Amino acid sequence: MKHARVFGVNCFFAFVFFSAAALALAQESAQSPAVSGEKAPEDQLKMQTKKIGLVIHGGAGTIERSKMTQDREREYRAGLERALAAGYEILKQGGASLDATEAAVHVLEDDPHFNAGKGSVFTSAGTNEMDGAIMDGKTLSAGAVAALKHVKNPISLARLVMEKSGHVMMDGEGAEAFARENGIELVDQKYFFTQERWDALQKIKAMEKHRTGAAGKRIPITDQDRHGTVGAVALDKNGNLAAATSTGGTTNKRPGRVGDSPVIGAGTYANNATCAVSATGDGEYFIRATVGHDVSTLMEYRGMSLKEAAQAVLDKVAKLGGTGGLIAIDREGNMALPFNTAGMYRGYVDPNGEYVVEIYK
Ligand code: ASP
Repeated sequence: MKHARVFGVNCFFAFVFFSAAALALAQESAQSPAVSGEKAPEDQLKMQTKKIGLVIHGGAGTIERSKMTQDREREYRAGLERALAAGYEILKQGGASLDATEAAVHVLEDDPHFNAGKGSVFTSAGTNEMDGAIMDGKTLSAGAVAALKHVKNPISLARLVMEKSGHVMMDGEGAEAFARENGIELVDQKYFFTQERWDALQKIKAMEKHRTGAAGKRIPITDQDRHGTVGAVALDKNGNLAAATSTGGTTNKRPGRVGDSPVIGAGTYANNATCAVSATGDGEYFIRATVGHDVSTLMEYRGMSLKEAAQAVLDKVAKLGGTGGLIAIDREGNMALPFNTAGMYRGYVDPNGEYVVEIYK
């Protein structure tokens, strides 16, 4: 009994002593200004807000439910989920938003359902020409590639251009020579052949013939026959934003035509002060509306929210006559995915870490 009492008294004194010491320490740290090596309050706040976020798209257009079989829809959804998983795994482990966006786009480039990499559409000459870009919101560094014919994963070459070329944008043969020098995988054009994209080209060519020549039956051309793109935007735990976009462009485009995807400030843009954006749609209109940069500046100069800014810019595209959509994320992790077409292949990771994939309105 006696032992127990002595032990209890000792515990009491120990508790008082440690509490007082802890209090003194807390007071000291509250009073003392931040000294070198310590974090300023703003930095401490940043460290506490370790939100991460990822949004992806696989192109916008006339995606009609009636034309979509269950199997097909399942395949599209599975592809989007795989892309989300590839990107989110990196973010969850504390990786960089640049790596996450590149990884997500890589998956979609390898999936023949999407118009980028493997599933790229055909030019009027029956070739495949791909564009892409990536941007780092922290440094405003960017890499863009255009009119590639043999690069299996254009997004990785865009990243290399950003990091190693000393340039921002490279195209065609010069870009592919740079890829070769740096061990980026090049493939034969045959790799990009898919029957579906080839049929879409024939359909559009037939329609053009009818339009310019004798009257014939109307051939319905969907946006899906015409274009598509893939993209990803992400926020990592260090508050860095990144955007990546990759595309085969538009079916039946003239060889040499470049769309909005590799145009920094149009189809792709990222800035830690505001947001990261990746667009999809009629590239010519998205370039003229400087979509990505406009979303950013509306937030920066007008104080608009991400959602308001994204919608305002898409409305501007529509006013010019363009259709499509965009995905965007801001530094707080807010997301926006507006589109003015019947559907947009898209996905994001919700605040509980669940993958959400959607296609229609
Ligand atoms: N924006 C792409 C381009 O014009 C196509 C698309 O996203 O549908 O090249």
